[in-house]
This record gives sequence, C-alpha cells and structure tokens, in this order.
Amino acid sequence: MRQIVLLLLTLVAFAGNALAEEDVHWTYSGEHGPEHWGELSKAFVTCKEGKSQSPIDIVDPIDRELDPIVLSYRGSTTAVVNNGHTLQIDVGRDNTLEVDGQTFKLLQFHLHNPSEHRIEGELFAMEAHFVHQNDRGELAVVAILFREGARSRGMATIGASAPEKVGASKPLDTPIVDLEIVPESTAHYRYSGSLTTPPCTEGVRWLVLKAVGAASKEQVANFVRIIGEDARGPQPLNGRRVVH
Ligand SMILES: [Zn+2]
Repeated sequence: MRQIVLLLLTLVAFAGNALAEEDVHWTYSGEHGPEHWGELSKAFVTCKEGKSQSPIDIVDPIDRELDPIVLSYRGSTTAVVNNGHTLQIDVGRDNTLEVDGQTFKLLQFHLHNPSEHRIEGELFAMEAHFVHQNDRGELAVVAILFREGARSRGMATIGASAPEKVGASKPLDTPIVDLEIVPESTAHYRYSGSLTTPPCTEGVRWLVLKAVGAASKEQVANFVRIIGEDARGPQPLNGRRVVH
C-alpha cells in the first residue's frame, strides 16, 4: 500500500512538473514581461542567454542578391484563436514556402501590435508572422509589416472572427489569397534569429518582406483592445548580418 502511495505521489509530481513548464505565465509587461522571460522557467533560458534573438532593428543590410523565395498559399484558414498572447489564424493544407531549395509548410499565422521588427529604426503599427516548418522540424517565418493607413480587407475578416475571450476559437474558412494581406513582391531582408516568444528557440530563418501593408487606425485599435500590445523589443545583433 505504502509503495503504491509513493508511486502515485511520484506520478503526481511528474505531472506537476510537466504542467509547470507548459503553463508558465508570461506577458508583455511587468513582472512576467520580456525583461524577465529568461528567469521564469529553465525552459526559457534562451530568452536571456541566446545570442541570435529576434526581433531586430534592420539597419544597413548587406546586398547579396538573394535567391527568390516562393510563397504558395493555395489553401484556406480554419479558425481564429485568442491564445492570450496573440490572435492566431489556423490554416489547412496546401500552403507552402520554398526557400533554400526546401519546402516549408505553413503552420499558422498571427499578429503583433505594434510591430516587432523595425526598419532603420521605424516602428510599424502591426506585424504578421507566417510560421512555416520543414520535414526536419526547422522553422522559417515570413514577416509582413503594416502601416496605419487604408482599411485592410483581410484584417476586417480576421477582426470579425476574433474571439474576445482568452482561450476561445472561432471558425474561419477563407482562402488565404482572399485576405489580400500577402504582397505580390517577395523581396525581403533575411537573417538568422529566434522565436519572439518564450522559449525563444533559435535557428529560425527570418524573412522580413520589404513590401509594407496597411490597416486602418480602427482595425489596429480593435486588435489592441482584444489582445493588448504584444511586441517584444529589438534584440542585440551580436555580430549577425542582415542580407537582402
Ligand atoms: Zn510572432
């Protein structure tokens, strides 16, 4: 009997640890904000000790005549999720990115406000991250910046399906091309960085598109109202070069 109790206690302790890692509370300000992410959990230590962190301010990129990338989004969205950190748009199949001769599948895209990346010091109203993964589990993120300006059809569609409640999800079945938020030109800046949220994992291929989109003041304000500001500040380059 005593052995069984010990076994159960051990199992409960293990389950507790597993939960603790996943459920570490982090935010964009205050005690659990970006300055403290690296101390909130052992799993987040890269946020503090990593040397290739994202986002960055893109200043004086080096001219390298990069091979073109191909964004082929033929599929549709499936849902808009309020995960408490961002509005995430889940997608179905048939959405790919070709880069470095490899195919990466689109996992999801999500929104930050204000922008996380800056260009020559300029902060933008919003930034969308299209997160892709290849067969080896490597990540490539395409970032699209938005200035405050004309109303965006895609942001209107997403905004209309955005759940107000944290943890909630609303279905949204729309072809990604119909959202008109991905520009035709794939000219971009490229550098090696990280996830911009805990656990801040490095080895992420970052492709920041040069074509900047627009969203209206009301649309930006609506996202801020639902999710709050959700942008990590620029991180040190530590000798990294941005190419274009
Ligand atoms: Zn992001």
